[in-house]
Amino acid sequence: MQDYILKGQTDVSQIEGILDIVLNSSCPPVARCRLLSSGFAPHHTLNVEEDIAGSVACLGCGNCIDICPVLSREPTRMKKTAQRSSMALETLVAEDCDRCFNCVLSCPQVDTTIKHYIVNRHMVEAMSRLETRIGDEKEPDLDLYVEEALI
Ligand code: SF4
Ligand code: SF4
Repeated sequence: MQDYILKGQTDVSQIEGILDIVLNSSCPPVARCRLLSSGFAPHHTLNVEEDIAGSVACLGCGNCIDICPVLSREPTRMKKTAQRSSMALETLVAEDCDRCFNCVLSCPQVDTTIKHYIVNRHMVEAMSRLETRIGDEKEPDLDLYVEEALI
């Protein structure tokens, strides 16, 4: 079953070095993870007539915008643009990214192989990083966010 789901997707062992550089930077990682993925697959469903198989383009679904904790804590940032794409996420968050990887995990255009790599290799570190910021007066909602995530 797993072989079927992962068939044709990016082999993370081939891109581990560059993927770690992307995940360790302080900018939103979703667009670059998308570009490292294999693109729209036949089992995906989308109501469009054109053939977009293999496309790694942003679908503009807004999942990454909706799930981002930086925008959740500071919704006024969203006044800058009504766009709901990875480019908008990069504009709105810039270098203030928490590196929580929610945007990557929620993106339909990122391969499951890359998502599994993040969950297995980077999530413990991500949660630890956020936990060290609990109690910061500038981030009153972070305590709740991390506590809920750790439950
Ligand atoms: S969802 Fe997380 S990783 Fe993505 S841009 Fe927002 S803070 Fe950064
Ligand atoms: S989650 Fe949606 S809007 Fe964000 S990068 Fe992926 S396809 Fe684009």
